[in-house]
Amino acid sequence: MADTLQPATPGETHVVVVGAGIGGLVSALLLAARGVQVTLVEAAGAPGGKMRQVVVGGQAIDAGPTVFTMRWVFEQILAAAGATLDDLPPLQPLSVLARHAWRGHGRTLDLYADRARSIDAVGDFAGAAEARRFVGFCDEARAVYRALDAPYIRSARPTPLGMARGLGLPGLAALARLGLLASLWQRLGQHFQDPRLRQLFGRYATYCGASPWHAPATLMLIAQVELDGVWAVEGGMHAVAQSFATLAHQRGVHLRYLTLCKRILLRNGRVAGVVLQGGETLAADAVVFNGTPQALAEGLLGDAVQRAVPALPRAQRSLSALTWCAHTPTAGFALERHNVFFDDDYRAEFDDVFSHRRLPRAGTVYVCAQDRGAAGPLPAGQPERLLCLVNAPADGDLRPFDDSETEPCRDHSLNLLQSCGLQIDLPLQHTRLTTPADFHRLFPGSGGALYGEATHGWMSSFRRPGSVTAVPGLFLAGGGVHPGPGVPMAALSGQRAAEALMAHLASTSRSRRVATSGGTSTPSATTAATL
Ligand SMILES: Cc1cc2nc3c(=O)[nH]c(=O)nc-3n(C[C@H](O)[C@H](O)[C@H](O)COP(=O)(O)OP(=O)(O)OC[C@H]3O[C@@H](n4cnc5c(N)ncnc54)[C@H](O)[C@@H]3O)c2cc1C
Repeated sequence: MADTLQPATPGETHVVVVGAGIGGLVSALLLAARGVQVTLVEAAGAPGGKMRQVVVGGQAIDAGPTVFTMRWVFEQILAAAGATLDDLPPLQPLSVLARHAWRGHGRTLDLYADRARSIDAVGDFAGAAEARRFVGFCDEARAVYRALDAPYIRSARPTPLGMARGLGLPGLAALARLGLLASLWQRLGQHFQDPRLRQLFGRYATYCGASPWHAPATLMLIAQVELDGVWAVEGGMHAVAQSFATLAHQRGVHLRYLTLCKRILLRNGRVAGVVLQGGETLAADAVVFNGTPQALAEGLLGDAVQRAVPALPRAQRSLSALTWCAHTPTAGFALERHNVFFDDDYRAEFDDVFSHRRLPRAGTVYVCAQDRGAAGPLPAGQPERLLCLVNAPADGDLRPFDDSETEPCRDHSLNLLQSCGLQIDLPLQHTRLTTPADFHRLFPGSGGALYGEATHGWMSSFRRPGSVTAVPGLFLAGGGVHPGPGVPMAALSGQRAAEALMAHLASTSRSRRVATSGGTSTPSATTAATL
């Protein structure tokens, strides 16, 4: 098949981006903004990947990420593409970050964008001493975030040594205070005496698909990310992906939906193009792969690129989820936009998922009430759009997660919500269930893992692949790639991939010029640039 592949038109650089998740969209946009010809192929019928919407009872419901954070990431990416935040749907800052409830307790705890209000709320909920400890926790989370921002989050591919150099003395001191090998759970135990607060902040590990018992204490930086602001997006998170796709189209990206990439082709050991389902080939000087990196390691994109990334053992996969998208009325509990309902035995939830590889018998339930938030309360009795989520093992490639497994989990979840005062039904005709097996089908090679490799142990952050692979001309973008999962991080990875690819094009065009020295060199349509 490679022999039938025509080289990209001389003088023009053509890149194929595989996948229209946020990482792929950002890469495509930034490359096109630099004059590269980009074709983006996406297996689904719409952009967004995990930022997808499902329609239930005639209502479009966000079925993936719901929390928009790290606005600065999008500001700087859009600026690099000659756009601004005004090109995204309107963002509404949320004053209540999330409402938290515990089984059988009548009281809830809200965290606010306003730190002083959060301190008061913690004081009312758990006492003045715990409020003081909360201040200490917030200070430490901020110090960790500041320490890791430049040498880790913004770096192309951190190494322990490089990071140690980049941390500087204040950064090293902040991390030393944490204890290098401490887990998030251990460190939270040093901050809080109230087990409910330890549970609440331990949940941040799950944002990276990890267990608080195995996640490094550095993940407390997520608390700072939320304190820096959480926004609701008008039209939902999926609308953000739609806007990136529109911008990419305006910059000349050729977007092809319902188009599966079957194989990545090499010539002389370098990327030369892709084969699409149906046999069509597209020549390319380089490819950005935005699917699960494991799809490459498993050979789903052909044997030639299997060595691009190392294989990931099943035990190192991050969390999957069981989600119910519903359009249904609720009563008895004043839902905020983001709500978390905790059960009594937190440890059992993670033992079930990571050790016993089963759905949790006492899992935390997250409920995103998508009609609430900035717009104020809903009229009573009106059906509303909900995403309910429970953590699950990423074994979607092993078993179907049929009713015999999911029904007990649903019953437990409804029982927990009820014990917190929330009356809600998940009627079949108004509910769409997504299981780890469904996530595996949607995101091949993942087993349903939603966050790449679980951030377990401090070295795991350095094991994640970077944007440059072992195959020349093949680049990676997405939540399974450095700097990690979450919409802003995956967006950053898309930017890193575009930067690395531009540098690669510059170096290959230089070597082509050297190879043809004496003749007329055809400059690439692009030049190296920091995007
Ligand atoms: C239920 C849920 C809740 C979440 N909550 C949050 C949250 O609140 N906040 C947050 O920041 N993050 C959250 N996340 C994580 C976040 O959604 C992801 O980290 C991020 O969206 C991943 O983006 P990505 O660039 O890796 O692409 P993905 O979203 O993984 O998309 C990859 C795309 O590539 C396509 N593709 C793959 N292989 C091929 C192929 N061979 N040919 C063509 N196309 C292909 C797929 O169809 C897909 O569209 C959540 C995720 C889920 C599922």
